[in-house]
Amino acid sequence: MHHNDNAPLVPIKGNPPILINLPDGCPFAPRCPVAVDHCHTREPALEVIDTIDQTVSHPDTAPGEAELVHSSACWRSGEIHGGEIDGKPVFPVPPRPASDIRETPRDERATTIKVDHLVKTFPLIKGALLKRRVGSVYAVDDISFDVRAGETLSIVGESGSGKSTTLLEIMAMSHDTVGEIELDGKRLKTLSRAQRRAERRNIQMVFQDPMGALDPRFTVYDIIAEPLHTLGFPRDGIEARVNELMNLVGLDPAHIDRFPGAFSGGQRQRIGIARALATNPKVLALDEPVSALDVSIQAGVINLLAELQAKLELSYLLVAHDLSVVRHISDRVAVLYLGGIVEIGDVDAVFDESRHPYTQALLSAIPIPDPTVERTRSRVVLKGDLPSPTDNEPGCRFASRYPLFQTLPEQDRARCLHETPALHGGEGADHLVACHFR
Ligand code: ADP
Ligand code: MG
Repeated sequence: MHHNDNAPLVPIKGNPPILINLPDGCPFAPRCPVAVDHCHTREPALEVIDTIDQTVSHPDTAPGEAELVHSSACWRSGEIHGGEIDGKPVFPVPPRPASDIRETPRDERATTIKVDHLVKTFPLIKGALLKRRVGSVYAVDDISFDVRAGETLSIVGESGSGKSTTLLEIMAMSHDTVGEIELDGKRLKTLSRAQRRAERRNIQMVFQDPMGALDPRFTVYDIIAEPLHTLGFPRDGIEARVNELMNLVGLDPAHIDRFPGAFSGGQRQRIGIARALATNPKVLALDEPVSALDVSIQAGVINLLAELQAKLELSYLLVAHDLSVVRHISDRVAVLYLGGIVEIGDVDAVFDESRHPYTQALLSAIPIPDPTVERTRSRVVLKGDLPSPTDNEPGCRFASRYPLFQTLPEQDRARCLHETPALHGGEGADHLVACHFR
């Protein structure tokens, strides 16, 4: 599979086996799409196939996962080459969900969320007994972007770069926001408190840890119905709506009276998504929505998000650290560094023609599912930790970590150190970069 393949990911059916009373056959057989009769009765031994050939030959192994010494415990390993049997993929990739909105050019689609010069600082407090404010943490430092209907903008960047703060600041819908936020064409600051409460239905959040986000004392019904009650949804319509939402996210409505603890991680994330969709929002803010899930479960949730987006023309503002996931489900990407966007644009432009050295360093950490490329490519290694986010002096915040900084001519170095680079890309450009020299 090519790493920028936008086709849906292929989930593996079922769940890993419980490690007691293991069946006699291959432990993967019940979930294997190419299992034959004797796979269910006799367990294959792990055998070395080759020491150089790296083609994938176990159906549970993704291309690129194979070790240098290649072994496989599969009765059919001799028939599987590069993830295919007889030239057909072991896990056939279903076609991407079609949608009218994706056919419409970007600038003809409605802008669902627009952020202009958003800033969020936290007070920096010192002192054990007498606490005093000694400065500010610039968690989000003057960022701007917009998201259109049916589109995903992903925010990527190291831990502490301000991704969650950006989402939470938008979700807060506060009168005190520094900068402007426009939701579905309305400037939030110009709205009254009651109007803002009504607008809340248009943006909902999905969190990383579905267990932490769902109250364990409430049934699934209560959890999904709660935003509907808050919104004043007609009481006699709530049960039907909850059933509809359960179906929408692939949960059995018969389980409506169960508690979150009775569901698996992937199912709990589906409950979280159903709850977020209850009010029929235009925008979902998703903070690491699949990071807490097993890899085999992630694909199912990611495909669900893609289907829902196509069906409901949703806008996603997504934070994810897995850059292959980001590439798979994003239309656009913003690279955040120390609270500021250093590069933004179409996901293919940013990933294939990245211009900011920070983006290049970030991307060089993605494993490429091709062993030859993976072994020969160069990695950019960033030295040092993030500089302190409390420093708000002019200058490029990346200069201190740029590996080639010392090789720049002296006047260029001075410019990096004393002049903050603005996002730029030329007349009408969509792909923007904040670097003086790119
Ligand atoms: P990310 O989600 O990208 O990992 P965050 O948005 O959580 O980053 O944090 C950005 C910066 O803001 C970090 O330096 C973090 O320490 C700081 N920060 C986040 N929340 C708070 C808070 N409630 N109080 C003080 N500092 C905070
Ligand atoms: Mg975060």
